[in-house]
Amino acid sequence: MKTYQHFIDGAYVDPAGGEWFDSHDPYRGEVWARIPRGSAEDIDRAVAAAKRAMTTGPWATMTPSARARCLRKLGDLVALSAERLAEIEVRDNGKLISEMLGQLRYHPEWWYYFAGLADKVEGTVPPIDKPDIFAFTTHEPVGVVGALTAWNSPLLFIAWKCAPALAAGCAVVVKPSEFTSASSLEFAALTREAGLPDGVFNVVAGFGPEAGAALVEHKDVAKITFTGSDATGARIYAAAAKGLKRVSLELGGKSPNIVFADADLDAAAAGAVSGIFAATGQTCVAGSRLLVQNTIRDEFTEKLIAIAKTAKIGDPMLPETNIGPVTTAPQYRKILDYIAIAKGEGARCLFGGGPAEGPGLSGGQFVQPTIFTDVTNRMRIAQEEVFGPVLSIIGFTDEAEAVEIGNDVIYGLAAGVWTKDIARAIRMSRALKAGTVWVNTYRAISYMMPFGGMKHSGIGRESGIEAIHEYLETKSVWISISDAPPGNPFVMR
Ligand code: NAD
Repeated sequence: MKTYQHFIDGAYVDPAGGEWFDSHDPYRGEVWARIPRGSAEDIDRAVAAAKRAMTTGPWATMTPSARARCLRKLGDLVALSAERLAEIEVRDNGKLISEMLGQLRYHPEWWYYFAGLADKVEGTVPPIDKPDIFAFTTHEPVGVVGALTAWNSPLLFIAWKCAPALAAGCAVVVKPSEFTSASSLEFAALTREAGLPDGVFNVVAGFGPEAGAALVEHKDVAKITFTGSDATGARIYAAAAKGLKRVSLELGGKSPNIVFADADLDAAAAGAVSGIFAATGQTCVAGSRLLVQNTIRDEFTEKLIAIAKTAKIGDPMLPETNIGPVTTAPQYRKILDYIAIAKGEGARCLFGGGPAEGPGLSGGQFVQPTIFTDVTNRMRIAQEEVFGPVLSIIGFTDEAEAVEIGNDVIYGLAAGVWTKDIARAIRMSRALKAGTVWVNTYRAISYMMPFGGMKHSGIGRESGIEAIHEYLETKSVWISISDAPPGNPFVMR
């Protein structure tokens, strides 16, 4: 069993309080790693190192091109370590090796993309309306960034947050989820190998209300970037407001996946399954509300069940497994509670509906892929994020009703639309209040495409060119070129 340390100021160090906690393998149901329990003191050391890196360290004067070289090297190193890091993620969060390896092999693209952007952050020289002034704007790093991540895809979130932050010239302190800290602590060694100066990238592990809260409240942290639940996001937003910090939030969802009668129904059924059962439903963009046009409901439901029946539940390390364990014990209980709530609300369970048991499943927290029908959009199962393999089928008659039901939740992270009618696809993509709309596909991401939520699903965007501006401040510089005597000092110039 490995005992991990924090990564602060370019070195692995023990926690100030001398305490560690257990990290569980959700498949085997056993402790597999010891994680340092971060405190306010550890956060203080990490933030001080990050501040030093940005003020007196070499990072402060490194040109954007030189920063970009480090980021490209980091991308190369992740590519070389993809299998090792993916296996650590699977041990920690129980997601499928096929999913995590895919993520890790794609992960370097964020470093390459933002390395490419680092030296293209240009200011402007406005043709200012005052003849005796020369004026220009520049974009400066916002300051020390505190990055708090969720347990479902820890290293992907590091790439989404830290690639633009470091490209912008910031230094970061990462606080990973207490359920899945190992991969972030392993990843830290690669930042040193890539040539990032000490203090530019730090990881302090620990619990949300301890290390997490200390990071959010630290006076020298200028910007908080968070991925997690909307309840925690709201708490962090309020705490950050006390210090008037900049905040980006990537939160939960209750995404509608909408199937029209004119769709390619086989493709739509495969898309619906990948929307909810992939990653055991533990994905923020889970298409957990399946809106199906009433005329094809029975036929479509049969197709879904036929695919769901083929899902292999088991060891997430095996490439042939389709559904792995639920990552955390509280999450396992929460999913089973929601299944009971749905049954109590009158939703009809067509498939699954309880814990999954059988050979090879005894150590883990497994839930059957579950399909409910006769769901109305007022039921809790249709309104609240379950974050598990639980699908609710809701019928609709026409486009207007699909939009109304689709938008009738507090969330707005993603939506799917399945139709062969291009005009309808465009109308739907305009009408749905979601940060991402997929048409005839689902759960596609790219480093080039902005990702983020509307409404309770978040604030700000990750990936794409605009993401770097989440970590920059604009400065306006005014230079007088006048040699005339000063004018009236009591009026605005
Ligand atoms: P969570 O909100 O419980 O925890 C997220 C992080 O916040 C963890 O690092 C945790 O330690 C920390 N934290 C908790 N309380 C804190 C506090 N008081 N102060 C500071 N930090 C605190 O979320 P989770 O259970 O880890 O993740 C699941 C949630 O994340 C789901 O709602 C899911 O939809 C969301 N999510 C969103 C996206 C996205 O990009 N929009 C991606 C993945 C997951």
